[in-house]
Amino acid sequence: MPAFAPKDCPYPACDRSRSFTWRSRGHYKRKCDGRTVPRVQCLRCNRRFSSQTDRVDRGLRRPDLVIPLFKLFVSKVTMRQMASLFSVNLKTIAHRKKLIGGQCLEVHEHVMKTTGVRLGLDAPYVFDELKTFETSRIRQPLTMPVVVHGKTWFVIHAEVGTLPARRRQKDAAPREHQSNQAVWICLQKTLAITDEKCTPHFVSDRKHSYPKLLRKAFAQYAHLRISSRQARNIHNPMFPINNLFGQMRDNMSCLVRPNWAHAKKREMLVQHLWIYVAYRNYVRTITRKCRSESSASALCIMPRPLEPQELLTIRGRIRLAA
Ligand SMILES: [Zn+2]
Repeated sequence: MPAFAPKDCPYPACDRSRSFTWRSRGHYKRKCDGRTVPRVQCLRCNRRFSSQTDRVDRGLRRPDLVIPLFKLFVSKVTMRQMASLFSVNLKTIAHRKKLIGGQCLEVHEHVMKTTGVRLGLDAPYVFDELKTFETSRIRQPLTMPVVVHGKTWFVIHAEVGTLPARRRQKDAAPREHQSNQAVWICLQKTLAITDEKCTPHFVSDRKHSYPKLLRKAFAQYAHLRISSRQARNIHNPMFPINNLFGQMRDNMSCLVRPNWAHAKKREMLVQHLWIYVAYRNYVRTITRKCRSESSASALCIMPRPLEPQELLTIRGRIRLAA
């Protein structure tokens, strides 16, 4: 039986002002592979737990799918193809997508809240919207605003919002125009991690609504507006976001065009988006040639690029050796 010496209680409600003590409480057999797992009791809140309690793959009949599926979600493989590859039901893939997407979002939010990272002094924020759709390109278009840090290409936030149908639909409820609302959330998230001492610089295209939203969100800022006719090369100030959107269209199956893969439901796109953001910020190296630095490690948020196992096995909390 593997030794288990917990460092803290996994339950958020546990009183952390007192020191943590525990006692052994037997063991149980894991159903999926018959492994014996020791169980312990926290002597502060008296609740029992095991090494499985705060794992993302806890209670799954196929915990072995989590890591390979994470890799496939950022490798242009469709959900139906994943189901066929592992001989499992499409619903199993949908369930894991929700689980992995939730974990990725949780990790990103936890990192943004706790690492005390302050941006805006050394590089501009670059933002833009990627247009896509759920089920129907004509009837159900979506917008996906994203803000990145211009120097490290760290994705600060991404949102998904609905757009009105491209053609008027008979007997259909009108779809909300959520573009401004979604961009607004991105700007608020950016504001939360902006150093108070600096005047943040923004780079975007010339969409009319952006200056108004920036004025509302920031007391002081600078804004560079780039014409969409300017060549989309490495010298274009929008390059960090153009490059990210290019990579997303290459790596996320639901954004690849032209093909038959697209998001069927907005929630599923959001889950897929967070898997990609966590991969891009914490797992992938900034460029393929640079082996030692991820966007998050370039910002000193993380000691190094993470392995998918590290990102996915511990729920909400990240314990890392350098
Ligand atoms: Zn406890």
